[in-house]
Amino acid sequence: MELKNTEYGEMLINTHLPPFTNYEELSRNGVRIISKASGNYIYDEDGNEILDAMAGLWCVNIGYGRKELAEVAKEQILKLPYYNSFFKTNNIPTAKLSEKLSKITPKGLSHSFFANSGSEANDTIIRMVRHYWNLEGQPKKRKIIGREYGYHGSTIMSASMGGMVDMHNQSAKEADFYHIPAPYSFKYQGNQSNELFSETASSWLEEKLIELGPENVAAFVAEPIQGAGGVIIPPEGYFNHIQKICRKYDILFIVDEVITGFGRTGKWFASDQMNLNPDMMTLAKGLTSGYIPMSAVMVGERVAEKLIKDGGEFNHGFTYSGHPVAAAVALENLKIIESEQLISKVSDETIPYFASKINNLKDHPLVGEVRSYGLLACIELVKNKSGPELFKNTGEVGAVCRDYCIQNKLMMRAVRDGMIMSPSLTISDREIDEMVSKLEFSLDQTIKKIS
Ligand SMILES: *Cc1c(COP(=O)(O)O)cnc(C)c1O
Repeated sequence: MELKNTEYGEMLINTHLPPFTNYEELSRNGVRIISKASGNYIYDEDGNEILDAMAGLWCVNIGYGRKELAEVAKEQILKLPYYNSFFKTNNIPTAKLSEKLSKITPKGLSHSFFANSGSEANDTIIRMVRHYWNLEGQPKKRKIIGREYGYHGSTIMSASMGGMVDMHNQSAKEADFYHIPAPYSFKYQGNQSNELFSETASSWLEEKLIELGPENVAAFVAEPIQGAGGVIIPPEGYFNHIQKICRKYDILFIVDEVITGFGRTGKWFASDQMNLNPDMMTLAKGLTSGYIPMSAVMVGERVAEKLIKDGGEFNHGFTYSGHPVAAAVALENLKIIESEQLISKVSDETIPYFASKINNLKDHPLVGEVRSYGLLACIELVKNKSGPELFKNTGEVGAVCRDYCIQNKLMMRAVRDGMIMSPSLTISDREIDEMVSKLEFSLDQTIKKIS
């Protein structure tokens, strides 16, 4: 399954600049064009059937090829393809979706604001929290604290809020954004107990707050599980401490559930699993299972009431905020999650099976750690299991292994030297077996190649 330059590949290379891509490498190596998908498989131009261990980009929660979503989109396009939700007009799918989200998201998240991507939703949050503190008569509270390896999107503001240094280095690091280290046990825990490490990692927030002065800080933002940063799973108790610190210093607590939402962790939201009471929450990806772009900011009562009572006009929004077709597709997606009882199914059956299967890879000589939470997993590759000793050129071996996986018709992602998985909620036991055996074979090929 080598890349070769086909007619459409040439078109793309000559005229398109795709996201997160090295263009020089792309023009040398060619591009793989995915032309259709069904269930948990994607198919390239040559008809190769590739098992998708990433659910697209962490988003196709109900799997590919759902006719119901196509049908509601078609019906809605014929009935009302577009109307805006500015200036006191609106549409029925947006009303229904807004009410639905206020019911299924954690208690207190009463209102939603719609956008088209996770990035825009997080930009909206930045606008809202600063507006909120202005209305509270504390305009100095502007700074936002995020985390190393945090990912909150790719607009200048959301990338500044995230902790990806390579993005910051390309003009995406605005003032007033700060970062603390991630609760990344593989890197930082050493021989601390989980309990101690949860205190250590949360104390980094308190230290940063004291350094900046809490009177200057608007909010702390976190993904419950850091996705793009490498499936970083905090130790138990971490968020308990974090929430206490946020309350103690009176800063807003923002939870970015763009990846962890809509069943991926075995409940509707990771906040339900981890007992989080955020002031605001970001939703995207699984909201529509990626079939159509849509995101939402869930706003808790504290902020919503202030905006409603004292905010005047909120001078913010997008042409496609509350798009009727996107809202109709989102509603149908949620309906499928409910009617097929996907969340209890993954919680009772798929997640335990997935965890035990991938855990079998921990004895492989290349594997330093296997970790998973719900249907999110990372397999850390190491030079030497004892220590563990990591590879010198971070990311090189991960990329080699990922390329073998794809050659073996398994779509995976590598973050640094971690192999990442985030399959759809509909992944079957047989498909999990296929995933793990293809990955194991790729690990064997990788070790042969590098030794
Ligand atoms: C993907 C992602 C975003 C950004 O969403 P886009 O739709 O790509 O803008 C934000 N937060 C998290 C946690 C994400 O994984």
